[in-house]
Parts: sequence; structure tokens; C-alpha cells
Amino acid sequence: MPQTTNAIVIGAGVMGASIAFHLAERGLKPTILERKTTASGATGHSSGLIRMHYDLAAESELTFKSYQIYFNDWRNRIGGDSGFQKTGFLQIAKREHEAKLRGNVANQQKLGINTSVISADEVERLFPDLIADHFDYAAYEPDSGYADATLTTNSFLESAKRNGATLIQNCEVTAINAAGGKVIGVDTAQGNFDAPIVVNVAGAWAKHVASLAGLKVPLETWTHDVAFLHRPSSLGRIPACIDDVTNCYFRPEGSALILAAGEDESLRGEEPDAEDQTPTDTFLEKLIDQMAKRIPKIEQSGLHSIHVGRDGITPDQRAIYSGTDLHGFYLACGLSGTGFKTSPAAGASMAELILDGTPKTVDITPFRFSRFAEGKLLQGEFGYGNIWK
Ligand SMILES: Cc1cc2nc3c(=O)[nH]c(=O)nc-3n(C[C@H](O)[C@H](O)[C@H](O)COP(=O)(O)OP(=O)(O)OC[C@H]3O[C@@H](n4cnc5c(N)ncnc54)[C@H](O)[C@@H]3O)c2cc1C
Repeated sequence: MPQTTNAIVIGAGVMGASIAFHLAERGLKPTILERKTTASGATGHSSGLIRMHYDLAAESELTFKSYQIYFNDWRNRIGGDSGFQKTGFLQIAKREHEAKLRGNVANQQKLGINTSVISADEVERLFPDLIADHFDYAAYEPDSGYADATLTTNSFLESAKRNGATLIQNCEVTAINAAGGKVIGVDTAQGNFDAPIVVNVAGAWAKHVASLAGLKVPLETWTHDVAFLHRPSSLGRIPACIDDVTNCYFRPEGSALILAAGEDESLRGEEPDAEDQTPTDTFLEKLIDQMAKRIPKIEQSGLHSIHVGRDGITPDQRAIYSGTDLHGFYLACGLSGTGFKTSPAAGASMAELILDGTPKTVDITPFRFSRFAEGKLLQGEFGYGNIWK
């Protein structure tokens, strides 16, 4: 006999956990089915940066609401801990992108985001260990920083369970069942489940999961190496930072480490389950070279560890938050290496889309699945043309 539940969430990463939490808060008793264990996909490898600087207003709004309503008040809003650290965030822009930087910051200020354009001299005053060479201006967000994606996932899940959700791990969804144009449930390694709502939040595996419902979703994988470096003892305060000039990003990791990564060595199109969980040969050497241009003291650092994570990526590098032609079957996938910081507000908006038909927390309509068929790929007003849009 199949088990019956009122909603199924496929995948217990941070986005699945957030959607399950918001559905449970609205009175549903969702069942979260996870192939392995919670946060075993992209979430467990996330760099956890929280910043509001995007070239697309809808993405800035998703992170702003995620900060304002959730990360800034985690214990009261969700319970547990997200590990949020307000270190400040710097977006360092290439000289030729000054007008774009100013355009993006102006758009973000209109949304109410605490951000401003500051000069290279001001960057050095705020963070004396950063060398302000090869750029004139940066965007600075004093409220941003980073959080812990695994802690965030676990607190969403614990809270969802308190509201009646069920989490089943080691339970791979192997088939999606439909009748009369409606989804009716799923088959899994641990039996069958009937439900009128099924949400595909399967990260790098979402393309395959969508194909079980007969849908072709334009997704490939993005594989990204991340290093943890020992923090030199003489290094002062550093922010979370995306540096478009040296093409890397970094942030503190607690008081003893620095997390850093670049985009040059990231791979596209690996199998979601590719065993190759080791970084490329040149990754570390290149990264240290890039970082030393901004933080010379990093030369005194040593390697603590490296890990590799994999997310799903869409042709326009923007998420898909959407219903589909199969009634009751939803997509929250293709998060394109940037879906942690948006997960609270995106999960709330997905729950509203599912239950009310209209998202209210943030209008996620621009992220609809049909944009690919319509040829309306998302494009920021002032794009810098790199992966960290
Ligand atoms: C290295 C790296 C660094 C990143 N840094 C940042 C950052 O600094 N800031 C930021 O905002 N974002 C960042 N991201 C992106 C962000 O972490 C991801 O977008 C987000 O974690 C994705 O969450 P998810 O729940 O959609 O997917 P995942 O965490 O991948 O979860 C999907 C889950 O689905 C499960 N699953 C798959 N198939 C099935 C099936 N058939 N049945 C049941 N379960 C299934 C998987 O086992 C997995 O646990 C980064 C990503 C990576 C990889």
C-alpha cells in the first residue's frame, strides 16, 4: 500500500528544507524524500556567502528578504542557528564596470538594501590588509556576510518536523507518477507515496528527476573547488568579498580560517554523481596567486583543506522556481551556484506559489520554467558577464 501525504519534497538540501518548512508552517504535512542524507549535495559544500549585490532586481530582492526576515533574526523566525556572521561584503568591480556598479547599487538602494559605492581608498581604510590596487570603486554592504548552509538546512528541517513534516533519508525517488495531467505520487527505494503536490528540489540531479515526470529541463552541472586556508595571525579584519579584478572570492571562516575560491577552474557538464571529488591540479596555485594580489599576507598562510561541490546550472545562470504543465509538479532547481543565500525567501515564495497560486514574499514569476521555451532568458540590467552575476 502506498503511503499518503499531502506534499512531497524531493531533496533535503537547503532549498528543499526551506520549502518543506514553509509548507509545514502553512499547515501541510510534507514528506521530504532524500536520496542520501541531509545537505549531502551542493548545500554541504556551499561557501555560504550572503550578499545582496546582483544585477537582477529579483535576485537582490530574494537575498534582501532572506536577510531581513530570516538570517537577521534566525532564532526567532526559524529556531536553531544559521551561523550567520555579519562581516560586511565587498563587491570589487573592474574599472570599466564603474557605471554598471553604480547602476546595480542604485537599483539595490531602491529596494531598501543598505549598500553604497565606496572608493578604493575607503576600502583600504575599512580593511587595511586589503590592497586596493587595480580598481577604483567597490560596492559595500555592511549587513552582509556569510552563514553555514548545513546548520541552516538542519534548523529548517527541525522546525518543519515540529510542524508535522516527515524526513526520510536514504530514500531515492525512482519514478514520478501522474494521471489525467496531474501528479499523483512517487516511487522510491522505500516504497511508494501518493501526493497531489511534488516539488523537485534535487540540485545537480534535478534534470534527471524532472525527466521522471517527462519534462526536459535545460540543466547542466557546475563543479566548483573551494579552499580553506589557515588565517595568518597578523591578518586583520577582512570582509566577505567577490573580487572581479582578481577573479576570486573569499571570506573569513570563523576566527582561524579563510575560505577562498575562484571560477577559472570550475567545470561544466560533469555527471552529477561523478566520483571526481578532487580539485583540478592548478586550482590551489592559481587561487593563492589571485588572492595574494588583494591580500599579500595570504602568502603566510597554509592549506587547511579543499572540497569540491556541484550544483545545477541553467542557460541564463538563474534559478527555476515554477509550476509546470503537469499539475501539482513544481521545480525549484538550477540554482546556479548561488541558491543558499536566497533559500529562505525563495522557499516562502515557492510555498505561496504552490498554495495560493501567487507568490507574495517575492515575485518569483521571472524565474518561471516557461522562460526557456519563450526565449526570454533572464538578463540583469547592468551585467558584469561573469558567473557571480
Ligand atoms: C562549492 C559551492 C559553493 C557555493 N557557494 C555559495 C555561496 O557562497 N552562496 C550561495 O548563496 N550559494 C552558494 N552555492 C550554491 C548553493 O549552495 C546551492 O545553490 C544550494 O545549496 C542548492 O541547494 P538545493 O537544496 O537546491 O540542492 P542540494 O543541496 O544539492 O540538494 C539536493 C538534494 O537532492 C537529493 N536528491 C537528488 N536526487 C534525488 C532523488 N532521486 N530522490 C531523492 N533525493 C534526491 C540529493 O541527494 C541532494 O541532497 C554554492 C554551491 C557550491 C557547489
